[in-house]
Amino acid sequence: MTMDTFDHPIEASPSPRQTTRCVAVGPYKIGGDAPVLIQSMTDTETADIDATVKQAAALARAGSELVRLTINNEQAAAALPHIREQLASQGIEVPLVGDFHFNGHKLLKRHPACAEAIAKMRINPGNVGKGSRRDPQFAEMIEIACRYELPVRIGVNWGSLDESVLTRLMDANAQRQQPYPPEMVTRDAVVTSAIESAKQAEELGLPGDSIILSCKMSGVQDLVAVYRDLARRCDYPLHLGLTEAGMGVPGIASSSAALAILLQQGIGDTIRVSLTPDPGGARTREVEVAQQILQCMGLRDFTPRVTACPGCGRTSSNYFQHLAEQVRHHIDERIPEWRNQYPGVEKLRIAVMGCVVNGPGESRHADIGISLPGADEQPAAPVFVDGERRTTLKGDNIAAEFKNIIEEYIQQRWG
Ligand code: SF4
Repeated sequence: MTMDTFDHPIEASPSPRQTTRCVAVGPYKIGGDAPVLIQSMTDTETADIDATVKQAAALARAGSELVRLTINNEQAAAALPHIREQLASQGIEVPLVGDFHFNGHKLLKRHPACAEAIAKMRINPGNVGKGSRRDPQFAEMIEIACRYELPVRIGVNWGSLDESVLTRLMDANAQRQQPYPPEMVTRDAVVTSAIESAKQAEELGLPGDSIILSCKMSGVQDLVAVYRDLARRCDYPLHLGLTEAGMGVPGIASSSAALAILLQQGIGDTIRVSLTPDPGGARTREVEVAQQILQCMGLRDFTPRVTACPGCGRTSSNYFQHLAEQVRHHIDERIPEWRNQYPGVEKLRIAVMGCVVNGPGESRHADIGISLPGADEQPAAPVFVDGERRTTLKGDNIAAEFKNIIEEYIQQRWG
């Protein structure tokens, strides 16, 4: 008989993060070895101060570490200091990011308090000004960023690509003996526009460690290709996001696929999940999805995780689904207090399984696990704590007793 020797260690972690410069935004750092930050954007009319404060507060409370607002007109620019002030009065200091387009230079000149109320600017080089107005208006925006010491995200969007860059690259491509397909030239133009604008900003005096880049595309493969190229060609921190990801499950699936591929390759320093909310749906959903992406990839921890099996023909009832849901609700209710009292609790792992076939194994891998009785099994639910069988729950009170076990475990481990 031959003995197997262990010589195939299998790594299960993302590639090391690509080395990027570190940019300070308010109290946070983006890039370098800082954690991947989550950001979001309001969809209220910015000039509607009450609505914008309400939504920005909800996004911040949900975990958005930066909140971006469009500053598209005089009223919006004038509203910014009030929005900042009202958030502060609620104890919310989330850095606000101003999103500017064609008239940003004028608005910021007329509303210096707006420049003082934001922690970062987003400039789209394709929307900063048309034709001969583009360079001077871009220069004015950069001069304002320098004056107020604001970091800048140069955010290219393929739907509003700088026409001069695209035309130049299309013309050069046409000269080739075998021209590349136009979509390849477009992808190159997206990356080139971001990098050339960043260099231009540096030449205008913006420090290199005040620049973040993004190149948003709406197709998963396009986004992955563009960011891989961007990461090869520069060391600016990268803001990832699939633009126009869409609604509901397709939106969540597309964003998750695109961002996960890049994060796994060590690409990305901050993320935004751009979901179209369902009518009446919560804007905070995008923050929740962003947190789940980072957490399921092992990049950050935000909340205790509940693993539950999908159920199958062995499942005797839907009780285990109800139990998993009740545990999830319990966590959602208790997490604000747990976070204050028990730092580190977000690493807790709970398993709720539908039968004893896979249940005990999965439960042992969690901090706390329960296997409910499957079809034809004894009406008893073994509970595992730190891999050891701790007790067996029976009767009508399983949910309450299991929640007590969770509370006790948290107190003992993180108290
Ligand atoms: S744990 Fe049991 S009930 Fe759940 S999917 Fe596996 S076999 Fe089915």
